[in-house]
Amino acid sequence: MAVIIDGKATALVVRGALRKDVEAFAQEKNIAPGLAVVIVGSDPASQVYVRNKHKACGEVGMYSEVHALPAETTEDELLLLIDKLNKDAKIHGILVQLPLPKHLDEEKVILAIDPRKDVDAFHPQNVGKIMIGNFSFVPCTPAGVMELLKQYNIDPAGKHCVIIGRSNIVGKPQAMLMLKENATVTICHSKTANLAEITKTADILVAAVGRANFVTADMVKEGAVVIDVGINRNADGKLCGDVDFAAVEPMASYITPVPGGVGPMTITMLLKNTLTAAKEQTK
Ligand code: NAD
Repeated sequence: MAVIIDGKATALVVRGALRKDVEAFAQEKNIAPGLAVVIVGSDPASQVYVRNKHKACGEVGMYSEVHALPAETTEDELLLLIDKLNKDAKIHGILVQLPLPKHLDEEKVILAIDPRKDVDAFHPQNVGKIMIGNFSFVPCTPAGVMELLKQYNIDPAGKHCVIIGRSNIVGKPQAMLMLKENATVTICHSKTANLAEITKTADILVAAVGRANFVTADMVKEGAVVIDVGINRNADGKLCGDVDFAAVEPMASYITPVPGGVGPMTITMLLKNTLTAAKEQTK
């Protein structure tokens, strides 16, 4: 029987501490940390994420504003808004909710965000800093995973961490954060040969694939720590991760459920980045 890593409870603990830091910051600087969230179009999942981010800011005492733009917004209009937010002193963090509608160039939009306000840590300047291990903004989802491990006293040092997925948002930065904590890291992806042979050697297995029930019991070593980043819908339309939870849980030492595992930590780390940004911009 594995210990179920409770992301909801952990997020509450971390947010409680954050709330105190935000209060101290606001008292000292006479301004609340401010986050601007930009959403283009009406993708239902994105709308939920944006609402949750706005709500979470309020809960820890941060200022936030949502800019909801119509799907037909032009690139120039979006870039103009980002420029305005870059110059706005009450905004310390800017987040553009992805994916953007097809006619907008995501790379160009990310590049337009002032790196000091890039609380998603997607700007190449911040990505580079993560690569050299000297960064202010942590990539939110992978950092959420690291915080969960920390809160459960799981030390990655010397462990073999296998990450399934090599995206710029999860897999690659996850590998960098694990390396920073002295894990031995293997990244697997869609072209990896003999995947199960590799995942079976993992002390810590992180699944970031985006396929329901992708990680089956025969892919997991007895006693492994299993972290499920995936967010999928199963055949019944129920929210689920990448791991076949029922089959894998009995053999893992620790496991994250979906929902209630990594998910709640992602927004928590975004809040942390916004406070860091506010501190650096008001030094
Ligand atoms: P992505 O589609 O960009 O990347 C998926 C990765 O899986 C790719 O690198 C690909 O190489 C790998 N992959 C695909 N098929 C594979 C196979 N057969 N064998 C091995 N590897 C394979 O997705 P992403 O943005 O990295 O997200 C991954 C999952 O995490 C999604 O379900 C997403 O919804 C979820 N996610 C969750 C959070 C959160 O807050 N919990 C945040 C971001 C993403």
